[in-house]
Amino acid sequence: MALRTIVTVGDPVLSKVCRPVTDFNDRLHELLDDMTDTLLESGGVGLAAPQVGVLRRVVVIDLDEDGILELVNPTIIHTEGEQDGVEGCLSVPGKWGMVKRPESVTVEAQDRDGQRFQITGTELIARCFCHELDHLDGHLYTEKVYRFLTEEEIAEMNREDNGEDKS
Ligand code: ZN
Repeated sequence: MALRTIVTVGDPVLSKVCRPVTDFNDRLHELLDDMTDTLLESGGVGLAAPQVGVLRRVVVIDLDEDGILELVNPTIIHTEGEQDGVEGCLSVPGKWGMVKRPESVTVEAQDRDGQRFQITGTELIARCFCHELDHLDGHLYTEKVYRFLTEEEIAEMNREDNGEDKS
């Protein structure tokens, strides 16, 4: 396991469409392990493979006490409702913005061994599913922001130490 470098906005890798994973092998497991290490080190909520320069459909999400969720070849199969919230991204340092997302999102994906499963997330996790899956298609949350936070609002948010939603 090892830390990988997180690429930032301006790197062309972030605007490319990722390829599906077809081989559930040691190489995939190493990528997942490294992405988990990198996510935990960064303090973010989620991380997509293109953010570490790998154009594969792989995402890891920190579910807090429920551990790390690994999503391989994920697709959104159902959404419900709507929420407004603050979003940031490990690949877009120093910026935060308001984005509308569904309140509840169900994803179908494969695990590291290729087994299919479905998982539903609400609130922060629903937001994270949308944000990370967008990365796999070369999209950044900044394209969906309807208002960026001001420096004052960011300072206020950091003082309160909530709203942490970097992915
Ligand atoms: Zn992101």
